[in-house]
Amino acid sequence: MQAEVLAVLRKCGSPMSAYEVLDRLRDGNPRLAPPTIYRALAALIEGGRVHRLESLKAFVACRCEQHGHVPIFSICEACGTVEEAVSRRITNELSRIAGQSGFAPARHVIEVHGQCARCEAKEAPA
Ligand SMILES: [Zn+2]
Ligand SMILES: [Zn+2]
Repeated sequence: MQAEVLAVLRKCGSPMSAYEVLDRLRDGNPRLAPPTIYRALAALIEGGRVHRLESLKAFVACRCEQHGHVPIFSICEACGTVEEAVSRRITNELSRIAGQSGFAPARHVIEVHGQCARCEAKEAPA
């Protein structure tokens, strides 16, 4: 099931809700239930293969495949495009800041909202 959920998210390329994933997979498996999808998503997140975008309550397949990274998502509010980037410096700095208070972070997701280059260009033609 994890492989199937990951394949759906990869194929889509943009963020999907758990129910959208369920809808796609129900075509071939009409008895599929939401808890099955949630379990698969939780395991994929745990393994770093999928990230959850808190602000959108949606899931995306990891595009950089680097374990232990802090994904930085640029979310276009006009077209919904999501780009994933990684910064080792930010990952290290976040761990350092959290470590100072003895806090043990389980996962971080950084979300930056704005407009992608394409939408920006559309709005302000040169
Ligand atoms: Zn990632
Ligand atoms: Zn855009």
